[in-house]
This record gives sequence, structure tokens and C-alpha cells, in this order.
Amino acid sequence: MRQQCPQCGSYELAKVGQNDKFLKWGGGGALVLFALGFVAPGFWIIIPLWMFGSLAVYMSHPLLECKECGRQWDPRKRPVETKS
Ligand SMILES: [Zn+2]
Repeated sequence: MRQQCPQCGSYELAKVGQNDKFLKWGGGGALVLFALGFVAPGFWIIIPLWMFGSLAVYMSHPLLECKECGRQWDPRKRPVETKS
């Protein structure tokens, strides 16, 4: 099953990670947990689990990027019909 660029129709695609989401959820979540740890130290135990979980999601949900026009999209949200 080959993916095709919805914008220009190119098959030259590359998988790219969702860096912004990873930084927002992984980094932001860890900061919140770190701050909460001053109130209840139990939250510090969750930080490595949170980071690992964020990394797992990051690794398993890459976006597709077109090498021709640079468009990025999520192949799971909008499946692209390929003409055979
Ligand atoms: Zn394209």
C-alpha cells in the first residue's frame, strides 16, 4: 500500500516525527509533573514513565512529508486513495 501526496501526487515521501507535539506533551507534561513534585514527591516517580510514554507515542505516530512540495500530513487521519 503506497501513500501518495494529496497535494502534488508525488510518491517521494518521508516519515517525520511530530516534534512539536512531542515537545509540548513530553516536555510540558514533565515540567508540570516536576512542579507538582514539590507538593507531592510521588509525582517525580511518574516523570520517567511520562517521558517514556510520550516517546512511544512519538515513535509510533510519525507524519508523512512530501519531498516534492514539503507538505506534511497525518496518514491515519486522512487516508489517501491511491489510483491503481
Ligand atoms: Zn507533494
